[in-house]
Amino acid sequence: MKALVYQGKEKIVVKQVPKPTIGTHDVLMQIKSVGICGTDLHIYRGGMNIPRGTIPGHEFSGIVTEVGKHVHNVKKDDHVVAEHVVTCGKCSFCKLGKSTLCTNRKVIGLDKPGALAEFLSIPADLVFSFPKSISFDEAALIEPLSIALYAVREAGFLLNKKVAVVGQGPIGLLLDQVLSAAGALVTGIDIRQNTLTFAKKMGWAHHTINTKTQNLAKRMRETKATDGYNRVFEAVGNEATAAMSFDIARRDGDVFLLGIFDSPAKIDLMKIIKKELNVFGSWTCAYSFPESIELVWRKNVDLKSLITHTYPFEDGPRAFAEANSYSDKRIKTIIKF
Ligand SMILES: [Zn+2]
Ligand SMILES: [Zn+2]
Repeated sequence: MKALVYQGKEKIVVKQVPKPTIGTHDVLMQIKSVGICGTDLHIYRGGMNIPRGTIPGHEFSGIVTEVGKHVHNVKKDDHVVAEHVVTCGKCSFCKLGKSTLCTNRKVIGLDKPGALAEFLSIPADLVFSFPKSISFDEAALIEPLSIALYAVREAGFLLNKKVAVVGQGPIGLLLDQVLSAAGALVTGIDIRQNTLTFAKKMGWAHHTINTKTQNLAKRMRETKATDGYNRVFEAVGNEATAAMSFDIARRDGDVFLLGIFDSPAKIDLMKIIKKELNVFGSWTCAYSFPESIELVWRKNVDLKSLITHTYPFEDGPRAFAEANSYSDKRIKTIIKF
């Protein structure tokens, strides 16, 4: 079968590789659509110490073509999506239902072959079918949606709560949507005006702040958030935005960190102490797919509008190169078969 294979810094090529086989508890998926995210671009740029020969891709949808003898949750021809963290099911974290913290975790598209291939073999308990009214391209975004949903789920009762989402990339825009659906008053914060305008136009963010062109404190006063936000979600992963997240949180507020930091960030911990902030880390997702599928199916969340660029599989190398250049209007890139 054909696959997109990482061959070193900024080099991804279409290559012939053996078609995977399945075990008795596995599913063979024929891949239809794959989303490219920041992690994939990180790999592309030579980060994360990923060995050459790795097939990336962890946001994907497809069709079941084969199931193992002991698989009962999905069947041949089902349209499916799958979580990408393969866990042991035996360690104390798995047993507590915190499978994202599994001590033996292996991530599809990082530690195991990913979805940028014609077929993928995957443990059946990670696979979920979705209604045919949802397209394969939309379904490829169930994974990033589930990352947002997983973080928001920890944030408690949100009706009329003032919530800031720092970073309006794909994850930030999905956070906006999930938070708005939960009744929160969302303020989207970024330095890119086009994504802020988009979030506001779509009704996902009630207010926006461009911290490059607007005065943050003044905009907070104007939007009746003078005392700060009840909840702040950091979805960028850099020192300045992390520091800002602690600054704009209300006293006794909650700060959720989802952004991927390249290097340690210097933070004034006295802000956390004196404001009695509650700080939460949120790492990938566990068992958030069924709820995410339902949100899309009920149209509480719009995934389609986030897809700005699609490429056929053969153009995969170009998709990576162009996505890596972060053109202005790009939100989500999809590679499809
Ligand atoms: Zn991703
Ligand atoms: Zn485990």
